[in-house]
Amino acid sequence: MYAGHFASALILKTAKPEAPTWGLVAGAGLLDIGFGLLVACGVEGLSPNWKTAHLLNIPWSHSLLTTLLLGGLFAALFRSRGRGVMLVMFAAVFSHWGLDVLVHRPDMELWPHSTIKLGLFKVFGPVSGWAETLFVVVATIIYALRARVSPTHGRHWAAMGALMAVFWGMGYVAG
Ligand SMILES: [Zn+2]
Repeated sequence: MYAGHFASALILKTAKPEAPTWGLVAGAGLLDIGFGLLVACGVEGLSPNWKTAHLLNIPWSHSLLTTLLLGGLFAALFRSRGRGVMLVMFAAVFSHWGLDVLVHRPDMELWPHSTIKLGLFKVFGPVSGWAETLFVVVATIIYALRARVSPTHGRHWAAMGALMAVFWGMGYVAG
């Protein structure tokens, strides 16, 4: 679902052109940045039963509570840019959780080490590849159309599209 996270950032940029693109992209990837750091520290990683269940050990980086707190803290960094920008920054962080919960096996906890684990892989897993493609294409078209009429969008949508394509390809290779 990696290109899908960038697609969320593009849609949010369209909704709030004043929000910096780098902030939206970083926000949309924030949970995985946290995951990477925690893997490096040996706190998170693959679960012991990865071979049979493909569950990740992500109690801290991907819990709903962490997402809400991180989203709030991240949004607060943009306080000087106004409430609307703060809102889309929070949405960028939360969008990651929202997309992940659709495709993860039940390994996303309500709060760190909660017994309630979320993940709708069984429902959406088989179609998520196609759904992501559609989501990315639609987001890119919306963004490109808005970029034509709004000077604040700039013309870097093609670069963003290329970046998403790279991550999308990487996702297929890795997955
Ligand atoms: Zn994630």
